[in-house]
Amino acid sequence: MSLINRQLRLKTRPEGLVSRDNFELVEQAVPELEDGEVLVRVLYLSMDPTNRVWMRDIPQYLPPVAIGEVMRALGLGRVVASRSAHYAEGDLVQGVTGWQDYLVLHEDAKGYVRLPADPGIPLPTLLGAAGMSGVTAYYGLTDIAPVQAGETLVVSAAAGSVGSIAGQIGRIMGARVVGIAGGADKCRHLVDHLGFDAAVDYKSADFKQQLKAVTPDGVHVNFENVGGEVMRAVLSRMVIGGRVALCGMISGYNSAERPGDDFSPVIMKRLSVRGFLVLDYTRTREAVGAITGWIREGKLKTEETVAEGLENAPVVLNRLFDGSHRGKLVLRVDGQA
Ligand code: NAP
Repeated sequence: MSLINRQLRLKTRPEGLVSRDNFELVEQAVPELEDGEVLVRVLYLSMDPTNRVWMRDIPQYLPPVAIGEVMRALGLGRVVASRSAHYAEGDLVQGVTGWQDYLVLHEDAKGYVRLPADPGIPLPTLLGAAGMSGVTAYYGLTDIAPVQAGETLVVSAAAGSVGSIAGQIGRIMGARVVGIAGGADKCRHLVDHLGFDAAVDYKSADFKQQLKAVTPDGVHVNFENVGGEVMRAVLSRMVIGGRVALCGMISGYNSAERPGDDFSPVIMKRLSVRGFLVLDYTRTREAVGAITGWIREGKLKTEETVAEGLENAPVVLNRLFDGSHRGKLVLRVDGQA
C-alpha cells in the first residue's frame, strides 16, 4: 500500500502572527526507500519560537526557510521501514523532521539522535524538559551565566518550556528564583507548583514595583527569554557585575521593527551579557542525564501542552505568543490516542 505524505510548505512570509494561508498543504506519495535510508513516521512536532524566526527573511543563525520549502521544525518520529543497518523498525528518531507526516532519512544524515523504541520517558517530554528546552536551560545556568547558591536568579517566560526548567534548575542549585510570566494563574503555578520563591506578572500595571519588591538584594543572574520592556525592567534591578544568559527575545519575533538598542545598563552595572545557542552545546548527554535524574528524584517537574493535527501547525505555533500554553508546547501529528 502506498503511503501519502502531507507536508506544510511555506507559501508566503507571515506578517505578525502566522496564518494557515501562509502555508500550502501538499500531499504526495512516500517514495520507495533506497539502500541506507529509513522511513520515519513523525509523531510529535516541537513548537518553538525559533520556528517563527526561521519564517523571516532576516539574517539569523540558519538560512531562513525558503518559499516552497517544507517548514523546518524539530520533531520526534518512529522508524516504520528501514534499509539501514543503523536503524531498526520501531526505533525513535529525534531531529529536524519538518512539518510533515513522514521523513525519508539517510543513515548518514547529521543532527539526528536514535533513541530506543521505549525510552522510559513520555515522548513529549523528550522534546521538552528531557530534550532541547531542558538542555538550553542547563547550558545557560551552568556554562553561560552560572548561578551560585544564595544568589537571586530571575527567569522570564518562566511558565514556558525553557523558563520553567531554568527556574527549577536554579532552585536545585540553591538560588533564590523569581519568575516573570503573564497572568496571575501562571504566577501562582510557578510558586505553588514549581517551587519558585516569587513570581511577577509582567502584564500587571505595577510590574516594575512588584519586581523591585521581590528582588530586595538585586538580581545576580538574569535568564532572559523575552527581551524588550521585560528585559529592561530586569536589567534595572541587576547588581553591579551581574550576569545575563541571553537565551531569547520572543517579544520581538512577530515584529518587523528592530528593538532599540539601549546598552546603558550594561555599562552602568558592568554586566556580563552572553548570548548563546543550544546547537553549540557539546555536553548534551551530561545535561540530559542530570535533568532525567532530577525528574526521577522528584526534584524537577515537567509539563507539556499537547495540541493535535499537522494541518493546525501554523495556528498552534501562535500559542507561543499569546501565552495560552504552559510548559512545552508540542503538536501530535500521527492522530492516534
Ligand atoms: P515558551 O516559553 O514555552 O513559550 C513562549 C512564552 O513566551 C509564552 O508562553 C509567553 O508566556 C511568553 N511570551 C510570548 N510573547 C511575549 C511577550 N511579548 N512578552 C513577554 N512574554 C512573552 O517557549 P520556549 O520554547 O521555552 O522558548 C522560550 C525562549 O527561549 C524564546 O525566546 C526562545 O527563542 C528561546 N530559546 C532559545 C534557545 C537557544 O538556544 N538560545 C533554545 C530554545 C529556546 P506568558 O504567558 O508568560 O506571556
